[in-house]
Amino acid sequence: MNTRMTPGTTPDAAPDSAPDTTATAAPTGPAAGEPVGSTTLRGEAGLLAAAQQLGRLAARPCARCGATGAPSAEDRRFGARVCPRCDGVAHFPAPDGVAILRAILSSRGRSRAALRTSAPANRSRAECRAYFVWRLARFHGGVDVSMPALAATLVSGDPFVTELHAFAEAVARVTCGTDLAAAFRWFGALHGDAPLPAGLPATAYPAGPVVLGDKPEAEALELV
Ligand SMILES: [Zn+2]
Repeated sequence: MNTRMTPGTTPDAAPDSAPDTTATAAPTGPAAGEPVGSTTLRGEAGLLAAAQQLGRLAARPCARCGATGAPSAEDRRFGARVCPRCDGVAHFPAPDGVAILRAILSSRGRSRAALRTSAPANRSRAECRAYFVWRLARFHGGVDVSMPALAATLVSGDPFVTELHAFAEAVARVTCGTDLAAAFRWFGALHGDAPLPAGLPATAYPAGPVVLGDKPEAEALELV
């Protein structure tokens, strides 16, 4: 299951969703399966396909404890008796991509889905994943190009972060029309003004706003 398949490989070899016997091995980063959220996605149908594909990935060892479920020495210092990332479960199930879309998209009676303007919940592990995808889609799509520090914290230790991030970029492309707004804004901040293509969200340009619309109170520190 550690072999990364080449793009274009058919997905019928996708691993099943049950933890396998190699699960005690160290976390291996992106596991088998096609890249989720590839640039070949086309609109909402592609987004749904990517969401379903996410759900078919095999469970993975916790990236924090390496499938032991035990707290690190540092975690113990803070009083943890089990790994605080996986709650001692040692594995993370595949993300439920369809549930994530349901949590972060709003159709509002229109024909085209839109990214919700209000933040989804972020209490449970599953909710934290949805929050991460929502926030990273806002980041790449140019709704909020401040650094998504809270979202990154919420999925710390989750071995599916790479896939969730790619999924967020796909969501940005479909709902915002681009996944490059933050890249342009931060490139400009780091390397000085460079000619940017027209038609990007205002947040992509050096003098533009950082956030379009509301920002959750919990993310206020990201603007400091
Ligand atoms: Zn763990």
